[in-house]
Amino acid sequence: MAGRGDTYLFMVQGIAQAAQMRRHSGFLVWLVLGLIILWGGGALVHAQATRVFLNEAAGRAEGTLQLATTALDGYLERFERLPPLLARQQPILDLAEAPDDPARVDAANRFLRDVTGVLGASDIYFMDTTGLTRAASNFDLPRSFVGGNFAFRPYFSDAVASGAGSFYALGTTSRKRGYYFGAPVRNGDTLLGVVALKIDVESVEAAWSGADYHVIVTDPKGVVFLSSNPAWRFGMTRPLTSEGQDLLETTRRYADSPLFDIPLRAQTTAQGHVLWEISLSALPGAQGQGEYLLASAAMPEADWTLTVMQNTAPARAQALTFTAGAVLALALIGMMVAVVRQRRARLRDLLVMQAAAKVQLEARVAERTRELADVNEALGAEVAERRLVEVNLRRAQDDLVQAAKLAALGQMSAALGHEVNQPLGALRNYAENAVALLTRDRKAETQTALERILDMADRISAIARRLHTFGRRPGQQLGAVDVTEAIEAAQEIAGPRLRQVGATLSVDIAPGLSLVRAGPVRLQQVLVNLLTNAADAVADRAERRILLTARDEAEAVVLRVEDSGTGVPPDIALRIFDPFFSTKGVGNGLGLGLSITYNIIKDFDGAIALVPGTLGGAGFEVRLMSAPKQDLAAE
Ligand code: ADP
Repeated sequence: MAGRGDTYLFMVQGIAQAAQMRRHSGFLVWLVLGLIILWGGGALVHAQATRVFLNEAAGRAEGTLQLATTALDGYLERFERLPPLLARQQPILDLAEAPDDPARVDAANRFLRDVTGVLGASDIYFMDTTGLTRAASNFDLPRSFVGGNFAFRPYFSDAVASGAGSFYALGTTSRKRGYYFGAPVRNGDTLLGVVALKIDVESVEAAWSGADYHVIVTDPKGVVFLSSNPAWRFGMTRPLTSEGQDLLETTRRYADSPLFDIPLRAQTTAQGHVLWEISLSALPGAQGQGEYLLASAAMPEADWTLTVMQNTAPARAQALTFTAGAVLALALIGMMVAVVRQRRARLRDLLVMQAAAKVQLEARVAERTRELADVNEALGAEVAERRLVEVNLRRAQDDLVQAAKLAALGQMSAALGHEVNQPLGALRNYAENAVALLTRDRKAETQTALERILDMADRISAIARRLHTFGRRPGQQLGAVDVTEAIEAAQEIAGPRLRQVGATLSVDIAPGLSLVRAGPVRLQQVLVNLLTNAADAVADRAERRILLTARDEAEAVVLRVEDSGTGVPPDIALRIFDPFFSTKGVGNGLGLGLSITYNIIKDFDGAIALVPGTLGGAGFEVRLMSAPKQDLAAE
């Protein structure tokens, strides 16, 4: 049974372990697969999100570009038409007619200063045909243009050649960046000079600063002229060609300002967005590094390009955040799927295990039932057999009892017959003798014969008395008996027999011995029986000693009669208390002494047992219950 139980246990454990291992390896595969999917998905989402957010940034940049272009265009247009108008004003015409006349110079200077203030221009000045400045709005300032020759500037040459000129440049005198318009001053077809108007573009630049974008204006050669980030001013967005270099030298557009390379890496995305990655650590102030998305618009009238540089960091951060969110969501979904799968797998395993367990259990139950039925059947058979045996036993017992009764009766009859017959025979002999002696008148001898007859009669009555005791019913009144007195009486009664065999009796009574619960006469009889048996046992021995001891032991008094006889052989030890059991041969013992003793002691609620004696022979131990003194028994 245990073996099968173990097998079952192993099987269930095996199923559980196999399922667990399967789950473990499955888990690893899923983990790796999940990570790959997460990685791939993350990369895809990131690319897509980057595209979307960069497009959005590009949209914002386009919007900003529109606004900036419109504003800048409007600003320039406001001043574009002014120089031709100024060229027709009287003070200018007067000066153009006589440029060396101090009064006209003075009048023109004042006129220009007033007009400049009204128009909001930076400077207005008049140059003669050689490009020499004759009058200027800033005539009375330290940075006065008067006396300066600007024939090299394209706004002068273009105005002379085509009637209108414009140019942006860093002022050679003022060191301020400005936009210049030029218009010819004519008298009929004669060119008398050029009126130039300079406007301040730095204020425009100041209005461009935005949170996540910069605005720059580059010339056709890629040099940054205006920039909301001061670090990029006069930086080159691409290397300068030698032709560009020559042009710069003739027009002195940037005066003596040194140009530098902006360290940028340009690239175009698949969507056509141009990205600039600027590493500005080399630039003064190290400002404005990062990646920018460009939105540019060429402004042909001004001959420059306006570019909005949208910082891509926010867009990239958004893309990254979105990707992280998506990856997290994906991971979460993956985990949920994994959890659901695992739970389902567990459930499946559990069901398999339960099914296996059920099958096993059913098998075990069936097996047990079969075994129980077998056992039941066997038990039934056994019970029937036992019953039969019992009936037989009882019958045998009855037979035995019957036989034993008959045997006992036979034994008893034989013993009695013998015991009585002998004295009866002797009695008859003595009686015959007495009759014969009486006829011969031998009185003395007749008397002896009659006394013998009396002895025989006594002996027969002694036998009858013994039988009477044996037949007496137990349960007579018990009381407290002084053991010492009983011993003394018994000594007296057994004395003749002891003396007859020449036995020495030692009596050892413990001082202060308790009284015992008994009948005094019957206790004497017990002691007499034991002493007589001891005397019989030592009769044929060289050493003939008998020892009688009495002592207290807990709630009892223990009496011992020991002798130096041959003792009781073990094979008959169990039978010596049986009635009519005797080894003394016919005529010497009835086999009733110990049997009577046993019954008397039982009446006293005591016990008698054969024990190994200290004198080499048998020992009989009688154990009687102690009794309180006040219960002293009468009999
Ligand atoms: P009886 O004395 O008439 O034989 P008992 O019942 O008194 O009958 O004794 C039964 C038997 O027990 C005796 O025949 C004897 O074999 C044995 N027996 C009794 N007392 C002793 C003893 N002290 N030593 C050896 N044997 C004994």
